[in-house]
Amino acid sequence: MSQKIRVTVWNEFRHEKTHQEVADVYPDGIHGQIAAFLGENPDIETRTATLDEPEHGLTDEVLANTDVLIWWGHMAHREVSDEIVDKVQRRILNGMGLIVLHSGHFSKIFRRMMGTNCSLKWREAGERERIWVVDPGHPIAKGLPESFVVPHCEMYGEFFDIPKPDALVFLSWFQGGEVFRSGVAYHRGKGKVFYFRPGHETFPIFYQPEIKQVITNAVRWAAPVCGAYTDLSTAPMVSAPESFTVSD
Ligand code: ZN
Repeated sequence: MSQKIRVTVWNEFRHEKTHQEVADVYPDGIHGQIAAFLGENPDIETRTATLDEPEHGLTDEVLANTDVLIWWGHMAHREVSDEIVDKVQRRILNGMGLIVLHSGHFSKIFRRMMGTNCSLKWREAGERERIWVVDPGHPIAKGLPESFVVPHCEMYGEFFDIPKPDALVFLSWFQGGEVFRSGVAYHRGKGKVFYFRPGHETFPIFYQPEIKQVITNAVRWAAPVCGAYTDLSTAPMVSAPESFTVSD
């Protein structure tokens, strides 16, 4: 690949500052850990952005130079400005990929892209999760076993209020009995959106090899494929590319 995939890892970056147990697991922030393992790939370059930076770190310049945006938020979804959400949505429709992790299900941008409430059930008991690959031919499942285990997680249960996905890649089972659509993929305009469930801030989930593989695969899948971004803001009337006559 001649050009690297330009990834911006966005994190609200609050838990790490206010909860020592989170800082112990992610001393460089969740965004720092995700950017670190992605950056080990020769075809990916990363930068990070956080809520408390000007424009949440998502300036026009940053967005224009982002191929795939990764989103982690939990306690401060409402502090994300609607103006930035509008800009991110426009970039997705023009081809930028979006990967939403875990509690990002309630982020403004994910709900905007889904058009539904994106609610779910949850329980924080540190139980075991088994994630099943239910679409083994999907690019995001590349290199993964039939199923794998997250030893300790926060449970998310159905009903997960999302539109029917274009692809359901992962299905989770939890020790307590629930199941959950853990990996769902969508096309939105020229862009692609992937939601991936694991990632609670007090568990070292973003260090786990299978989880890193999924996010890396998702970056490659979500990267734009249709060239330069174009303006989709108008629906122009056009002349036909071939000459023709219409008979009565
Ligand atoms: Zn959580």
